[in-house]
Amino acid sequence: MVATGVHILLSLALISVLRRSGRPEPYLVGALAAAVPDSDTFVFRPLVEIGYAGGVLWGHRGLTHSLLGGVVVIVLLSFVGPWRAAAIGFGSHVVFDFLSGGVRLLAPLDRTLYGLSFDWVLLNALTSVFAVTVLLGDLLGRKYGLETRTESYTAEPILEWLR
Ligand SMILES: [Zn+2]
Repeated sequence: MVATGVHILLSLALISVLRRSGRPEPYLVGALAAAVPDSDTFVFRPLVEIGYAGGVLWGHRGLTHSLLGGVVVIVLLSFVGPWRAAAIGFGSHVVFDFLSGGVRLLAPLDRTLYGLSFDWVLLNALTSVFAVTVLLGDLLGRKYGLETRTESYTAEPILEWLR
């Protein structure tokens, strides 16, 4: 189990590194895309409990964590902000859950749970430290006008792709 807050932090950190926008939309869309997959715990669970829906697809890490769910989330959030930020948010969520127990990536076509079982407590802790460090560095860099890129390596091609 990965805390939704960690998903959001990771998404914001990745967008900070890859997108580096002065506008709020990428961060908003990325945070929403990182949070939406776990909505299955409070949207689908009541439906399953009253017998309206059933099966593993409607359980946690089912449809909302699949490629189909990703397409739906990214398309819907693209009306709010950049679709690439939504893809980063959703993708980071699914990859993280893949590492910490698995997701039904090909639902509804395939109900197999794909993934690994790394210690989710350790993953949460390491990811939180990484994300907070990146976000604080980004905020301090913006405040003091620091530029951390070197001439030998720049992320410009990635940043250009994300625009
Ligand atoms: Zn999840």
